Amino acid sequence: AATDAAPPVTERVATADGRPIEVAANVGSEAEIAPAAERGADGIGLFRTEFLFYDREAPPSEEEQYEAVTAALSAFPEDRVVVRTLDIGGDKQVSYLDLPDESNPFLGRRGIRLSLDEHRDLFETQLRALLRAAASEGGEGLAVMFPLVSRLEEVDAAAEAVESVAAELAAEGVDHAVPELGAMVETPAAAFLADRLADRLDFLSVGTNDLTQYVMAADRENDGVAAYHDPLHPAVLRAIDRTASAAAGTDAWVGMCGEMAGDPALTELLVGLGLDELSMSAVTVPAVKNRVREIDSAAARDLAEEALACETRAKVRELLDG
Ligand code: PEP
Ligand code: MG
Repeated sequence: AATDAAPPVTERVATADGRPIEVAANVGSEAEIAPAAERGADGIGLFRTEFLFYDREAPPSEEEQYEAVTAALSAFPEDRVVVRTLDIGGDKQVSYLDLPDESNPFLGRRGIRLSLDEHRDLFETQLRALLRAAASEGGEGLAVMFPLVSRLEEVDAAAEAVESVAAELAAEGVDHAVPELGAMVETPAAAFLADRLADRLDFLSVGTNDLTQYVMAADRENDGVAAYHDPLHPAVLRAIDRTASAAAGTDAWVGMCGEMAGDPALTELLVGLGLDELSMSAVTVPAVKNRVREIDSAAARDLAEEALACETRAKVRELLDG
């Protein structure tokens, strides 16, 4: 495909009228770190820590997690590395963790819900590794993101956990630092509360894979409802718009790390919706960077307004093809 052929673009990019857009990579295994750097990603916008828990019989130790995160930081010494805390449950199962057997796992205990409750121990171990990594060489680029947030109390509890882990490390005399903290916006609740989230956090990152599933009430893995699971549905676009607009008046930056972010045909729309950062699989980084450079932000905003006014996904697609 055309995206495979695009040569790496190593410098940072801005729109034709000078608005900087960060183009980062999603990393879901150790093997994806080097290609992300080679393709010219401006850092890692989503480091999925689940992979550290797969294909083994027990959770990784604090030391192993520290090594994995510092390896990612070393690959991007000048850039941000956004590490997502363990996001299991729903579609992401880990056999030895004995996750709850629920009739509606996507509406059950997943992500931050497990970290603040039955898997608090895993969360604290992970936070210890992350706060230590934040104090390592290049660690100032580290950012930590919480998955599947739907309540402000969760963000407050997660921030308190960070504080208490910092106090514990201080008492032990262990080097540590508190990284930037953010939340994924992948539930309608988080999109509706984005203004309050942005007040509390350093950044938000829209996860369109789950956000589309929850806004449209359409299982991300069920082909029978694939026509509903479309991030270009106006309802999903409105949730993204609401999130980006809520962050716009604050110091928080707002990115996107769902699949939608990696489609160069959607870059203008996403820039127009106000996203500051797009994170995607490494292969599409050069094509999206090239696309950003051609965009005029005022025209992009007009396009976004037109898309938001469309009544159906077909109309949105027609607009983008036109
Ligand atoms: C998302 O939900 O959009 C996302 C980026 O997270 P994941 O696909 O890992 O659930
Ligand atoms: Mg998700």
